Amino acid sequence: MKVAVVGTGYVGLVTGTCLAETGNDVICVDIDAKKVQKMKDGIVPIYEPGLEALFERNIKQGRLKFTTNLNEAIKDATIIFLALPTPPGEDGSADLSYILGVADDLGKIITDYKIVIDKSTVPVGTADKVNAAIAKNTDIEFDVVSNPEFLREGYAIEDFMKPDRVVIGLDSERAKKELDHLYRPFVRQGNPILYMDKKSAELTKYAANAFLATKITFMNEIANVCELVGADVDKVRIGIGSDDRIGKRFLFPGIGYGGSCFPKDVQALMKSSKEVNYDFEILNAVMDVNQRQKTMLIPRIKDHFNNDLKGKKIAVWGLAFKPNTDDIREAPALYNIDELLSAGATVSAFDPEAMDNVKELLGDKISYVDDMYEALKNADALLICTEWQVFRSPDFDLVKSTLNSKVIFDGRNLYDKNEVEGFGFEYYSIGR
Ligand code: NAD
Repeated sequence: MKVAVVGTGYVGLVTGTCLAETGNDVICVDIDAKKVQKMKDGIVPIYEPGLEALFERNIKQGRLKFTTNLNEAIKDATIIFLALPTPPGEDGSADLSYILGVADDLGKIITDYKIVIDKSTVPVGTADKVNAAIAKNTDIEFDVVSNPEFLREGYAIEDFMKPDRVVIGLDSERAKKELDHLYRPFVRQGNPILYMDKKSAELTKYAANAFLATKITFMNEIANVCELVGADVDKVRIGIGSDDRIGKRFLFPGIGYGGSCFPKDVQALMKSSKEVNYDFEILNAVMDVNQRQKTMLIPRIKDHFNNDLKGKKIAVWGLAFKPNTDDIREAPALYNIDELLSAGATVSAFDPEAMDNVKELLGDKISYVDDMYEALKNADALLICTEWQVFRSPDFDLVKSTLNSKVIFDGRNLYDKNEVEGFGFEYYSIGR
């Protein structure tokens, strides 16, 4: 099939590459000319495990192409995916200008039947708005479909290739036939394609993200209570996770969630609920608690140094909002660094993939090192913000001999408390 993907971010590029991998002819279009040139030169512009091999193979075999020209991308394609940003607007609601802008353009340039599929996370009613934006400029037949994406950065290829489910909202038999065909290779193991109306599909995505954000936040609150009553959150976590109704996943406490999805989607769901006069109260609490949780170790760091961080150097391990990605959007590490710098400390940071993105944002406000142990040199404490695998079994003797003072603030509960304390560290973690 001939497919166009508009927007080549984490979702668009993975979608385009995986669809090329299953034999479709895919053209990806992006307004970022530098990014498009990079991809034309064979360079993957983001870090996503497993993406590079598929990207290279499909370019080589001529099934994956890139352009900055929307018309060129969609001219031969029946299927057009929109994988565009939907960032929070000033009032917290999803900014639909990227999507509606492209929809408006599509109406002006389509010359034959198209299926316009919204993969971005958007509020209920967006498919109707996309429909109207296209229809006002054309009489050509087209269908609009809502097909929210559930991939996780860091596991995006796996998630796209073997999704738990594919959610598709539509009201056209013609579009359904095409999408059945397009998604068949991805649901061979019996994982379902769930067809529904567009509004339900749109809300399914927000409901999933808001639920997961709530689950993490609930567990963070349990961790905070654990500390106050002398319980161990790891025990409690396993105790409740063994109940099938609760499940073991998403129960790990830490310094809050970040990323490009949970924070903005929780906010957008709250906002769109308000628009229909519904006060989604629990989401208010989720946002407040998460904001507080992100920097919950800062008062402990300050206490440890008698409220004087001036001249102290803090080593930070982990900058990405989670492991296996270079994405730093809403990363807890950034909030912590900000607080540390404001308090007069200096920061030496290491992250396996996200340092270039942080350099772009923070420049020389902090220093960057290429080796995790290098960050510890002359540092007065270690703060862990992201649970990269490489941080899980460090050489504690080396950590101890390199740090100025033997103190670790672990925002991701990576280590066994007794073991670390056995090495002579003062060890602060969450809920233990
Ligand atoms: P992103 O910011 O990584 O990528 C968006 C891309 O769109 C950028 O490359 C940008 O240059 C491009 N773009 C902007 N305007 C354009 C235009 N007019 N024409 C062509 N390209 C244009 O975004 P993302 O993380 O891939 O997210 C896209 C959508 O998918 C969002 O709604 C997001 O909420 C949703 N989503 C994201 C994830 C995730 O893990 N990142 C998962 C599921 C859903």
